[in-house]
Amino acid sequence: MKIYNTLTGRKEEFVPIEPGKVRMYVCGPTVYNLIHIGNARPMIVFDTARRYMEYKGYEVNYVSNFTDVDDKIIKKAIEEGVEASVISRRYIEECKKDMAAMNVRPATTHPLATEEICGMLEMIRTLIDKGHAYVAADGTVYFRTRSFREYGKLSHKNLDDLRGGSRSLLVSGEDQKEDPLDFVLWKPKKEGEPYWDSDWCEGRPGWHIECSVMSRKYLGEEIDIHAGGEDLIFPHHENEIAQSESANGRTFARYWMHNGFLNIDHKKMSKSLGNFFTVRDIAEKYDLQVLRFFMLSAHYRSPLNFSADLMESAASGLERIVTSVENLKFLLGGAKEENLRAGEEELLKEADGFRVEFEEAMDDDINTADAVSALFELVKFANTKADAGSSAAFLSALLSQLRTLADVLGLIVDKKEEMLDADIEAMIAARQAARKAKDFAKADAIRSELLEKGIVLEDTREGVKWKRA
Ligand code: AMP
Ligand code: ZN
Repeated sequence: MKIYNTLTGRKEEFVPIEPGKVRMYVCGPTVYNLIHIGNARPMIVFDTARRYMEYKGYEVNYVSNFTDVDDKIIKKAIEEGVEASVISRRYIEECKKDMAAMNVRPATTHPLATEEICGMLEMIRTLIDKGHAYVAADGTVYFRTRSFREYGKLSHKNLDDLRGGSRSLLVSGEDQKEDPLDFVLWKPKKEGEPYWDSDWCEGRPGWHIECSVMSRKYLGEEIDIHAGGEDLIFPHHENEIAQSESANGRTFARYWMHNGFLNIDHKKMSKSLGNFFTVRDIAEKYDLQVLRFFMLSAHYRSPLNFSADLMESAASGLERIVTSVENLKFLLGGAKEENLRAGEEELLKEADGFRVEFEEAMDDDINTADAVSALFELVKFANTKADAGSSAAFLSALLSQLRTLADVLGLIVDKKEEMLDADIEAMIAARQAARKAKDFAKADAIRSELLEKGIVLEDTREGVKWKRA
């Protein structure tokens, strides 16, 4: 498998540190609002990379943080008159719901910045001891950027060019820096902000230090893959490298993967520009599988422009796969012959060629666009070669191949089975009986089971009402 490594600017053969295992860290969202579909892009594409590596037999330890202390979270908390943690917890829960609806699997670990302060203090102390950081008069701790000789190696920037550019960015309080390029590791609290005690001042961490610390804690000093959107290359990932490599004295991450922007009218979708759709907005109009399919129909490094037309074509593309799967299931139900019939073995060999094409595409820097084309070819093949005379063995082989490849992309291609009204009524009756018997755990379990099947219950004065979500 080849991966394009931002660090070297080349596609490289992927060789993990430990054979058969992958340690991967993906920078997660800052949780102060519902996520927009730009934020959803790294979630979907790196979830797909993870699924593909697992399909190839790797055991993937996948860590993705939630940044739960940040200026924007604090601002929102002040607006609502609540603690910052109320805001961050709320949006972490909402984000997890969106992830589930997009079939993005939960990470092995989702660390929270506010729960890792101890580790941050420790790394900052090490950096000060090693001369890579210093404490200013007001207790702010800065990273001494020039002390890390390789600074700029990820973003391919030259320190002197950066220096010229950053002078104009001087803001108040920054004059206590030794060098304009130095960045904050720890800063003093302001009135009304969450803070922690430290050797230097009561305050809170800068943004970059959290990822260095969480990556080391959950994956080790050296990891295989570090990923995120391309806007994170500089300064976030450059600063993470400077902190981690200065503190640990060894390579931080071997491969750096960055997704391109999701654009709207060819401009980056972002909260600050106000040109965004939340994942929830999209969910009102489409099944989020369509959004996932739309994202995967482009290569993850290419810019992708969001448009209603492209969403429509994603919807019909996905429908083609689902219809083919339904058709195979239908034929399987009526198949008369169990074992492969004459000629079917050769046909299955031909079908296997599409799996090979699919894998070649994914091996080539997770090229989901070409992998989707291979999947479509398999669909076309299944639609033309499977019929009422096909054997059950042939049909199930095709079906399982389609499902397996779709699953690598995280696409659900089996139609959700609609529950019959009578079955719903029976479950509601069982729930009422459980409540009467004061078995509330059982009553709740039935309610959740119904919810999973898309049935929402409402307890009203006239009794229980239900609707399909
Ligand atoms: P943030 O909450 O802004 O830190 O972003 C969380 C993740 O979403 C990061 O990996 C960003 O690079 C990524 N991201 C934000 N906006 C976009 C966009 N328009 N297109 C692609 N990725 C984005
Ligand atoms: Zn990060």
